[in-house]
Amino acid sequence: MNLQNNILYSNIVSNEPIDTIKLEKAVKIISELQSDMKNHTAKGSGPFLAAIYDEKGALVVKTSNSVVNGCCSHYHAEINAIKETEKIYKTYDLSKHNLSLYITAEPCMMCIGAIMWSGIKKVFYGIPSATVEKITGFDEGFKPDWVEEFAKRGITVYGNIVPELGEQALKEYIENGHKVYKPQR
Ligand SMILES: [Zn+2]
Repeated sequence: MNLQNNILYSNIVSNEPIDTIKLEKAVKIISELQSDMKNHTAKGSGPFLAAIYDEKGALVVKTSNSVVNGCCSHYHAEINAIKETEKIYKTYDLSKHNLSLYITAEPCMMCIGAIMWSGIKKVFYGIPSATVEKITGFDEGFKPDWVEEFAKRGITVYGNIVPELGEQALKEYIENGHKVYKPQR
């Protein structure tokens, strides 16, 4: 690993020894998703994107959060991606397809459950929940040590991937006056 990679990967969260090939691919995909964000938020979608790739590395679906424009509190990007993928493969159990999920931010408490039940095998996320909450005011929920729990269930996790791009995308969302949707307390 060269010096540049050491800096790039110094704060990576992972529940397996870091595989630089997997991580480099994730950096590329998540960077693309973060820069695509404004195209989705301009149409009224929420500031989170997800993409599912098959085991050969081909894109299966790319989705955005559609809580506001879809009028549904659980239309997070991950939920939309899993739903569409299960429809494509015509199954509620994706495990035999060995799929990878790439998300612009750490999954919330609801999406952690949804990912677990879907049979997705690998998860790569961008900005961590604590930073999402700090920048936006979204509530990501209370979570167990989910990265370790996923390891016990054979699900690989890599996180905190190019977080500076995620921070920038979320700051733009807030600066442009978009909605931070959550129930009244
Ligand atoms: Zn979620």
